[in-house]
Order: sequence, then structure tokens, then C-alpha cells
Amino acid sequence: MRRVFTAAIAALTVTTAGTLVTGAPGQADARPGKSRSVAVSAAPKPGSPGLGDPYFPDYGNGGYDVDHYDVRLRYEPATDRLSGTTTILATATQDLSRFNLDFLLDVESVRVNGWTARFAREGVHELVVTAPRGITTGQAMTVVVTYAGVPSETLVDGYSGWTRTVDGALAVNEPESAWWWFPSNDHPLDKATWDISVSVPDGVEVISNGVQPRPPLAEAGNRMRWGWRSTKPGATYLAFLAIGQYDIVTDTAPNGQPVINAYSTTLGDRKPAARASIERTAEVVDWESGIFGPYPFEAQGGVAAPIDSLSFALETQTRPVYGPGFWRRGSNLYVVVHENAHQWFGDSVSVADWSNIWLNEGFASYAEWLWSEAQGEGTTQELFDFTYANYPADDPFWQVLPGNPGAGAVFDDAVYDRGAMTLHQLRLAVGDDAFFRILPAWTAAHRYGNGTIAQFQALAEQISGLDLDPVFTTWLFTPGRPAPAAATRTTTAPAQPKSWTQIRAAHQLLAR
Ligand SMILES: [Zn+2]
Repeated sequence: MRRVFTAAIAALTVTTAGTLVTGAPGQADARPGKSRSVAVSAAPKPGSPGLGDPYFPDYGNGGYDVDHYDVRLRYEPATDRLSGTTTILATATQDLSRFNLDFLLDVESVRVNGWTARFAREGVHELVVTAPRGITTGQAMTVVVTYAGVPSETLVDGYSGWTRTVDGALAVNEPESAWWWFPSNDHPLDKATWDISVSVPDGVEVISNGVQPRPPLAEAGNRMRWGWRSTKPGATYLAFLAIGQYDIVTDTAPNGQPVINAYSTTLGDRKPAARASIERTAEVVDWESGIFGPYPFEAQGGVAAPIDSLSFALETQTRPVYGPGFWRRGSNLYVVVHENAHQWFGDSVSVADWSNIWLNEGFASYAEWLWSEAQGEGTTQELFDFTYANYPADDPFWQVLPGNPGAGAVFDDAVYDRGAMTLHQLRLAVGDDAFFRILPAWTAAHRYGNGTIAQFQALAEQISGLDLDPVFTTWLFTPGRPAPAAATRTTTAPAQPKSWTQIRAAHQLLAR
């Protein structure tokens, strides 16, 4: 939901730092590989250090596709020391002489298909792995990385995406989060499933995505190992950890799925407001399923983060994490509606690259307007009118293009508010019948995949039979305050919808 970094990171990561080579170079080179093919192919090449994202070119890596992460960790809340092993199951998509992972902590060893591999650090977050044997297109790769570090003290641009809390830690951030706790192909284009287990001192809780395949297991040294499983493909930034003192509430949703909510015990008098919001998750998901299509994941829930921790919320897969600020003035359903709408728009259907962020934030924000309408707290038209009037024509807000905001403005107000206004204009253009067919058609067509704004426009045009270029160009890609459609123009100052205060309160924490 909210990127804490500045765009400086994109520039920073382009620089190449000194190279540190450890491991056991050459150890296995003498052993002949199996002759696998008589076909003559080009020499293996390095996998690219990025996936070409226009905003974050070196995020993710080329040359392989991850199927699954097995993240097995040990954490000490007292010192913030994190150690462990991540096993990556991947498939090579080219003949590889070497490949990259995105990761920041100190690496002790890397093995590829059982063989010790050389590794080196390049730039800010690139771990370059050279396997002793060549890797060929289509070959299964099992990459085992052993590592340790203190994530809160591992800084990039003076910043850590790992939040140390009063009683533990949170790994919750967008788009950079995994760098601080597991090596990965860190871009939404490479989705995978994952198993996460963490050993902590007895009495500490560990919350993560998905379901618990087993209860926590006792380990030597008065410790417990918690385990979580995500069975649907997810983008790496949507994996999370919440470690600390939590009260866990479990139930069954109307669709039969497990609901697992967790509340930091540090919330004090904010805890009832957090519960009054997050305990309605299953109701919200049920309502959203009726509009967006079947809920795409295996479990539901939410996590109320500790006091003095996150200043935002994030749509972590199956279980959004909410900062304590949302409950300062009481309950707030709108942030729950927003984060759970992201389960369809952002999590199941992810951006193909980060310039398409409107597909996440515009839709999650419009979900709030739809909820307001359903609750009788202000119609979508009233919210459009009031939001439109809230930003004067000379406000810099209108200079940010929701359809291509730039790396430094991915979470700008415009992406949210003008983003929601765009969907309202689309709805007016195509009519309710087509609009409410477009939304579930989109989530079905790109389920567990990726999408672009151009693809969404094409689908909307296909379903409505209309040329929608004027709507998309005007509202997403043209600076300045557009004239609203004649039918929606208001001549008097619009009244403030009842839901406005809560929506504002949520957006002040979600957008920048
Ligand atoms: Zn959002």
C-alpha cells in the first residue's frame, strides 16, 4: 500500500559496488556433466539482473521462474537476529551461466541442485550465483541459500523495510520487503507459492500468510516453531511476517475458509476499535466476492500491528496488516474494504510492472466508494463530486498521472483519488450493467497473473462495445483537472458524504 522509500533507491541500485566472492569456487568444475543433448546451442548467458520494470529496472531477475519458496528461519526478538535457510524451487527459462537473486542479509552458502555454488554481491540488493555446472533451459533448479543478519540494521538509502517493534518485528512493505528476510526473484511477474516457518522463544507468536498446516511445534531450548503455508501463487512483496505478542482469533468464513485474525497486545485502548474493524473481514470479503468474483485465496484475516510500528496498511496476501493509526479515532471499515479489495486487485491480479499501479490503488479506493454506497453513507456519485471539488483545479494533485505516476509517486494521492474518479467515469461511460461485468471478467481473466492498464481498457471496450480511449486518456494520462462528463457536473458545492471522514482518515495513512 505505501512505499516508504524514495525514488532514490532506483538510482542507487544501478551503481555497482565492489564484488565479494566467497564459497568454493571451482570445486566441482572438473566433474563432467551428463551429456544432455546433441543439439548445439548458444553459450549459456547470465540471467539478467532485472526484469526491465520501467520504474525499478533491477527488481526481479531474468533466466528462471520460481515455483515455490521454502523459508525456514530462526528469530531472536531481543537482538533482532534472523538466521535461516531458504530453498527455492525454480525452472530455468534460458541456458544460464549464472543468475541473480534479490537479497540483503549476509549469505553463508549457496547450493544449486546440491552443488556448492559461488556467490557474489553486486549493487545494493543483487546476489549473483554461479553454479559449478551449467543450467539449461527447462531444467529444474533447487537453490538453497543459508544466511543470517540483523535486518533492522541492514540499511538501504538509510532505510530498512524490516520494522523492529516493541516486542518483535514486522516484515511488511511495498514494493521492497523480501530483501530483508528471504532471497527471491523480487518482482510481481514471478509469482510462487511459499511455506514459511520461524522458530521463536516460547510465548512469542508468529503470524504470516495463508493457513497453518500444523500447530506450533516445540523445539529444544524452550522454543516454538510456527509454520504457515500459502497455496496460491503470490508476489514476493505480499509475503509477510508479524512476530511478537499477539492475541489470535480464529473462525470460519461464510465460504467455509479459515479466518485467522491477530491483534497485538500492545494496542491498549485501540484494540476494541481494531477488533470492531478487522473482525468484519469475512463480511467484507463476502460482499466483495459478490462484486469482484470468487475470492481468489485459501484463507482470510487481518493483523493489527503493534503500537508505534507501521504508519500504513498493506494488502499482504490472505491477511492484510494494519498500522495502529487506523484505530486512533475508532473503528474504520474503509481500510478493511480497501485492503481486502486488493486481494483481487493487486494480489491475484498483479501489476505487470509498477507503472500500472492504478490497477491496484484505483480499484481498492473505488471499492471504498462502493461500500459507502452499499452502507447508505454516501453514493459513489456523491463521493466523486466531493472528491473532485476537494482538489481545486490549480492543485498539484492534478499534475500526477494515475496511469503513469512515475517511480517517486507510485503511492501519490492522485493514484488513489483520481484513480477512483477514473473508475467512476468509466462506469458512467459504459453503464452499470457493463461496469459490473467488467470487474469480475478482469479478475477472472488475469487470476494469479499480471495485468496492464492497456489490457484492462481492451477488456472494458470488448465488454461495453465502446471506444473508451477518451475516458482513459483524459482521466489517467492527461495532466490537469478534467471536465467531468456533462451528466455529472455539479454547479453547487457538493455536500460532504457521511463516509468522507473515514475514507479521508484511511487515505491520509495509505497515500502520500
Ligand atoms: Zn491500497
